[in-house]
Order: sequence, then C-alpha cells, then structure tokens
Amino acid sequence: ELTNIIQELKGNIRVFVRVRPLLQGIENEDATSCIDCLKDDQLLLKNKINTKFEFEKVFGPNDTQSVVFNEIKPLATSLLDGFNVCIFAYGQTGSGKTHTMEGPADDPGVNYKILEEIFANVADRRDLFTYELNVGVLEVYNENLVDLLSDDKKKKIDVSITPTGVSVPNLTLTTVTDYQTTVGVIRKGLRSRNVGKNNLNEASSRSHSVTVVQCTCTNMSTNTTTTSKLYLVDLAGSERLKRTGTSGDREKESVLINKSLSALGDVFSALSQKSLHVPYRNSKLTSLLQDSLNNENGSKVLMLVNINPCVESAPESLCSLNFATRAR
Ligand code: ADP
Ligand code: MG
Repeated sequence: ELTNIIQELKGNIRVFVRVRPLLQGIENEDATSCIDCLKDDQLLLKNKINTKFEFEKVFGPNDTQSVVFNEIKPLATSLLDGFNVCIFAYGQTGSGKTHTMEGPADDPGVNYKILEEIFANVADRRDLFTYELNVGVLEVYNENLVDLLSDDKKKKIDVSITPTGVSVPNLTLTTVTDYQTTVGVIRKGLRSRNVGKNNLNEASSRSHSVTVVQCTCTNMSTNTTTTSKLYLVDLAGSERLKRTGTSGDREKESVLINKSLSALGDVFSALSQKSLHVPYRNSKLTSLLQDSLNNENGSKVLMLVNINPCVESAPESLCSLNFATRAR
C-alpha cells in the first residue's frame, strides 16, 4: 500500500515551454521563426517535417515575466506548506534561461518574483506561523560545487548525504527577512559565477547555477517545526558542444556538462516511469537535489524549457522539446 502511494506520487514533474522572441540586430538571427505557438499548451516546430508538441503550458514570445510567473506562483505556497520545490530553466545557450530565472533588474524573473511572493505569504501567515528563511547561492561546475556567497571561492564544499537528508556543510547561508535584501544577496551571488573567466556568457553556459532558499516553519500553537527547500536552477546550456580537440579542459567540460544534463534526464525519466530505482547519484547536481526531486515526500518539480525560435536553432530546439517530452 505504501509502495502504491509512493508510485502514485512519483512522476509528478510539470513541464512548461517558453519560446522567446526573435531578437533584433543579432547576427544569424533572421526574421523567421520556426516555432508557431498554436494554443496555450501546443506548439508546432517547423523543421524539415512539422512536428506538433503538447505540454502543460506553452508561453509564446509575447508572454511577459508576470504571465509566466502567474503559473508558477502556487509553488511559493508549497514551500511554505513544507514541500521541497525545484524549478529548472533548461535550454541551449541564448534561449532565455537567465532571462526567465533572473531577468534584467527592471524586469525580474522567477528567482525574484517567487521570493516576493514568499515574503507576502509569510506576512499573511504571521499570526499562525513564524518562518526563518536562509539563502545560499552556488554553482556546479565540472562536478564541483562553488560557494558563490563566500569570499573564498576556493573553499571546498561538497554534497553530504546522510540518513537524515542531503546537505552542503559549510555553504554560506544568509538569513533574509525582506525582499529587497534578498534580491541583493542573490544578485551578488549570481554575479560572481565562475571567477577567472572573462566571458561571462561563455562561463555561464558551462555551469549550473543554483539558488537555494531553506525554509524553517514554526507552528506557534503546537510549537512544532518543519523544514523545506526551494531550489532555483539555471542549467548549463544544453547544446551539443563542439569538440575542439585542442583544449583538454574544454574537452573535460563538454563531457561533464553532457553527463550531468543526461543524468538529470535519466532521473526525470525514472521518476515519470515510476521506476523504483532513481539514479540520483550519477551526477553532482542530481545528488544535491535528490531530496527535492524525490516525489516520495511530495516534492514539486517544474521544468521551464526555453526555446530560441530562430530557424538556425531548429535542431537544438527539437532536442530540447524531446527532452521536455521525455521528462513529463
Ligand atoms: P541563456 O541564459 O539561455 O543563455 P539569455 O537569458 O541570456 O539566454 O537570453 C539570450 C538573449 O535573449 C538575451 O539578450 C535576453 O535578454 C534575450 N531574451 C531571452 N528571453 C527573452 C524574452 N522572453 N523577452 C525578451 N528578451 C529575451
Ligand atoms: Mg544564461
């Protein structure tokens, strides 16, 4: 009976697709789109053959950050109700992952909008519950973790898996009590991604950035405490990386990025097939996130698949849409 319940809860991954607008004045980006958003849950990829895809939600080029966030908002409540939540941005470099998660300062994305919503809910509940929120920002790069809120970027941190749960001992956590401060903390962390590289876009396309919000809730009438975690993940670019054959480091990077994204795909696919063995341990990212992907405890997982609609990107878009199809 317990296994039945577990099996029913597994595979509870939601997939939204967001097609970004074509950009003006970008080289190789002509004025034609290879994507038609047909309905709010269907799109057509016009490649050599036309392929129709259906997802829970499809956002088109005109859908704003607010329209997208409106569908994500309930996850703020889930966190405060004690569930672990994972929100991923997936897609090739340039498809809009960082726009969706971070966004420009004057048009904030999911990372910030969800925190705004969390603080609003915390205020609404203050007669019954008190919350403590701690924020950490880290990067997963070549299967190593980097603490982006630490001044010492060489500090060694790693995932620790014990019978009581998954944690990252020594990760810098900042206690936050209001929205504005939290924005500052997260922006500071994300700005310091992958130090030592001068091309930011290049660096960010090769690492996963992870913002974690740890939530401790005290029920004031019963004096009991529950904990939950929200992970906001801007994944490494999903493009099949070209092998230069010249640089050993690059070669290693490509192999590891592909490995961690395919490990994530394998986890999603095991979860959606309700498989009893889920291969969390095959990559650093899935090890880190395992207690938040694991639907046995009611975790909520949302995959935001970002698509660049230009014709040249059609082959990569097809790969992303197939990944998204496989995840649900
Ligand atoms: P990624 O993080 O996947 O590499 P970015 O988020 O950096 O991609 O997006 C690439 C470019 O497209 C950026 O210039 C970004 O501002 C722009 N862009 C992405 N999504 C949108 C959108 N929904 N509306 C307007 N511009 C967007
Ligand atoms: Mg990016």
